[in-house]
Amino acid sequence: MKEYADFITEEDRMMIASIRDFVKEEILPIRQQLDEDEDRRLVHGVLDGLASLGMHKRGLPEALGGMRASAISLTVGYEEVSRADCGIAMTLSVPPWVFGPAMRSHNERVMQELCPQYCGDTFVEACQAMTEPEGGCNIESAEYRGKAIHTRARLDGDEWVINGAKQFPSGASVADVYLVTCTTDPELAEEGIALIYVPADTPGLSFSKPENKMGMRFTDVNASIYLDDVRVPKDYRASMEPGKDHQSFRNFLSWGRLSSAAFAVGAAQGALDIALEFTGQRYYDGKQVRQHGLQAAMLADMMIGVESARFYYLTVASMFNNRKVYGSPYSDAQIASASGAKIYACDMAVRVCNMAMELTGSYGYMKDYHIEKYLRDCKIIQLWEGGGQLGRIDVARGRYEMVPYV
Ligand SMILES: Cc1cc2nc3c(=O)[nH]c(=O)nc-3n(C[C@H](O)[C@H](O)[C@H](O)COP(=O)(O)OP(=O)(O)OC[C@H]3O[C@@H](n4cnc5c(N)ncnc54)[C@H](O)[C@@H]3O)c2cc1C
Repeated sequence: MKEYADFITEEDRMMIASIRDFVKEEILPIRQQLDEDEDRRLVHGVLDGLASLGMHKRGLPEALGGMRASAISLTVGYEEVSRADCGIAMTLSVPPWVFGPAMRSHNERVMQELCPQYCGDTFVEACQAMTEPEGGCNIESAEYRGKAIHTRARLDGDEWVINGAKQFPSGASVADVYLVTCTTDPELAEEGIALIYVPADTPGLSFSKPENKMGMRFTDVNASIYLDDVRVPKDYRASMEPGKDHQSFRNFLSWGRLSSAAFAVGAAQGALDIALEFTGQRYYDGKQVRQHGLQAAMLADMMIGVESARFYYLTVASMFNNRKVYGSPYSDAQIASASGAKIYACDMAVRVCNMAMELTGSYGYMKDYHIEKYLRDCKIIQLWEGGGQLGRIDVARGRYEMVPYV
């Protein structure tokens, strides 16, 4: 565990040791089958196994049976799971992401009525629904100030009535609780942003068939969500305080991007480990492949990439842990930090998986060698949450005053 240097605590070391055992015994042997597990029986077996280690409760409130976890502890846990399967890590990370806004706003009703099932003995899926058919980046972009959100929430007595559609969210159609990003009025800009919890069995909520994807095929389920006159209690809005849901929205962007960096580093480490082993067992000119200068330099570049991306996300996670000094995760500065860590890690991960495939030749292209799965899975991390383009704009925005373009 030396790769985490002094960032982790003794408790983190114990957590990592138990995940490593689980990964070795329970995930790696069925890794390729997870990719074909259409009924998701194996996927849920793995998620329930991680739940038996307490991984699903980390970041949820202790009062409900959850467990406190620092930003470092959470992200290191995600990296460890991602070394085997970053789609599993993504699905595991959604519940604390979804309940973050209610926790920040001390919304007792949401926490008491919707959260306890997430702290039980088995893993329950959640969904954070932000992206819309008209575009994901426009919704995440600070420049649009919430004005591009088409999903509308109208207060009718003691209920919110929601109409709109969402596209691609993780967990769509299989989650028990949806956190839907809405606007009460686009003219209100940031103050119009409303984060509203919708239980899966609410009338008016429906879904398309799951998407057929290149990677994370069944470990993460994505579908369109339709909201037609969906009614939920007024208290199911994360916060009624003006502007607070906007802060929470920005908050889950930065947490999502930080976690994504950890997923990407885990995937890259997984591909690197395979390349290292393969090149130690294969020979040309009488020497192991990895003993040749050309391949040694490639492996060294891969290691430098993985290590620097890891230290980048760990540094940002340590900044998240110290808000007094670095500010809140929803600040422009911290969104820039998390976006930088994500961009760097994702670009590195795609490159490292590609290099791993080059080092393993046609074997790496075969499903049995897993590298092709790492490559397919980690490509989407690079694209989601605004992708590298919006992420770069957020870095510029957080580091110097960028002229708004809307
Ligand atoms: C496996 C998977 C999991 C996902 N999980 C979730 C989830 O949990 N929740 C959720 O809400 N969504 C989720 N998404 C959706 C994903 O986050 C979005 O697809 C992504 O943010 C990009 O949005 P878009 O596809 O609409 O592309 P667009 O926003 O249409 O962007 C297209 C291109 O234009 C660029 N672009 C567009 N607008 C801007 C801008 N304002 N600034 C800079 N560049 C811009 C983009 O960078 C990109 O290159 C998921 C998608 C997948 C495939």
